[in-house]
Amino acid sequence: MSEKADGLRLVLLGPPGSGKGTQAELLSDKLGFVHYSTGEVFREEIGKRTPLGIKVEGYVVSGGLVPDEVVLEGEEVFLQANAGRSVVFDGFPRTIPQAEGLDRLLAKLGLDLNLVLLVDLSDDEVVQRLSRRRQCRNCGKIYNLSFSPPKRPGVCDECGGELYQRKDDQEETIRARLRVYKEQTSPLIDYYTRQGKLVRVDGALGRDRVFARVQELIAEKR
Ligand code: AMP
Repeated sequence: MSEKADGLRLVLLGPPGSGKGTQAELLSDKLGFVHYSTGEVFREEIGKRTPLGIKVEGYVVSGGLVPDEVVLEGEEVFLQANAGRSVVFDGFPRTIPQAEGLDRLLAKLGLDLNLVLLVDLSDDEVVQRLSRRRQCRNCGKIYNLSFSPPKRPGVCDECGGELYQRKDDQEETIRARLRVYKEQTSPLIDYYTRQGKLVRVDGALGRDRVFARVQELIAEKR
């Protein structure tokens, strides 16, 4: 696909496991969006044992949220560096103060948030999906043992890396993350509805049908 990205900013909202990361990967691979996943940034920093990684590890492993000021710290630098490009935010913002912070930073840079896509999914489906999710330790590619298994068990199709289960993808932690989502992140649904930016897509439609809808919505914004 050769559609050229031209500076759209898109937020993917939804419970853990709804397929936000997969849609963000597709947007990056097929439409040239810059994929900004705060969770992935944190996992990389934790893996490298950097000061930021050490600071956020406890929150990430337990399924709690990293404090807003830590999350917002890297945001301005990122936005400035990517001002002219299309960006998909995956897992950010996750609280009202983060959303307000993002609005402030964008306004300062003369940029707009063009679309907020709520990829919705029931709690039972979330638990089912996440407990069967595996990720490549090397390149970060995501698999699901039920509907997108690797060709060889435990081995990444793309790079041969080792597949692992994230610590926060175990059932008890998944339930905790769902609680955090309901309490702290779901108020963003109202926040962006009031801004007239929110569109809901049913995550149960599956990867390809959700992506078809995402592409339609993006085409309307261009
Ligand atoms: P994710 O990969 O998006 O599911 O994120 C994994 C974990 O990273 C979350 O459960 C949080 O602990 C942390 N995290 C990621 N993004 C944020 C954010 N925007 N605000 C606070 N914590 C975050």
